[in-house]
Amino acid sequence: MKMGFEESQTPYSSGSQSARVWTERWVKDWVYCPNCGSPHISQFPANSPVADFFCPSCSEEYELKSQKTAFGSKVVDGAFRTITERLAANNNPNLLLLNYDLAQLAVVNALIVPKHFFVQEIIEKRKPLAATARRAGWVGCNILLKEIPPSGKIFFVQNGVPVPKEKVLAQWQRTLFLREKATEARGWLVEVMKCVESMDRREFNLDDIYAFDQHLSRLYPGNQNVRPKIRQQLQYLRDRGYLDFVGRGQYRLRSSS
Ligand SMILES: [Zn+2]
Repeated sequence: MKMGFEESQTPYSSGSQSARVWTERWVKDWVYCPNCGSPHISQFPANSPVADFFCPSCSEEYELKSQKTAFGSKVVDGAFRTITERLAANNNPNLLLLNYDLAQLAVVNALIVPKHFFVQEIIEKRKPLAATARRAGWVGCNILLKEIPPSGKIFFVQNGVPVPKEKVLAQWQRTLFLREKATEARGWLVEVMKCVESMDRREFNLDDIYAFDQHLSRLYPGNQNVRPKIRQQLQYLRDRGYLDFVGRGQYRLRSSS
């Protein structure tokens, strides 16, 4: 994997247009499909409303967002209604985020947020465009990256260094079980995974995770049985190989490598 862009093919003079061409070319040259390992993904025809890339082997779809600064707590996405509908229909694309260094003309970070981490909780509705805007009343949305646990951010390249392919594929496989759940049920699972991963250690006990019950009650005010609900998620996560029960109320996260 080479980090630098192919400078020779720059048909545009505007910086952002060139960057789009460079980053798309880089994805075509170097990004493999994390789902099936196919060495390349293909580009949809320009302005395709569906996504930007797809895997010719397993049909997995990818939407590319690239920018010159590192991605912060949120990223601007398209129409709120479109993404909500696609979420409900379970056909939203995976999100491929790429940030590059304009001086070096090279990729700094490339990561994928798998589509199964997309739940309603991470979609933030933006204010409608002002009446004076060309698309007055149009409502966009933000993807709240900070609400996605680390296991839902799969780096191909981190700080200019490529991550070994087998590690990327293993990390992808590790959370694929989330696709078995409808988006609503998935919200709870992802929230519990986020609590677990925010502790940043491999072993924890039930009390550690119960410490998040206030937080979860606020998120799901309709649920009166937060602790049983937490235990139910932990059981599910054990059954799917995300963590192990190692003793009475003791848990251990499985590593992805
Ligand atoms: Zn594939």
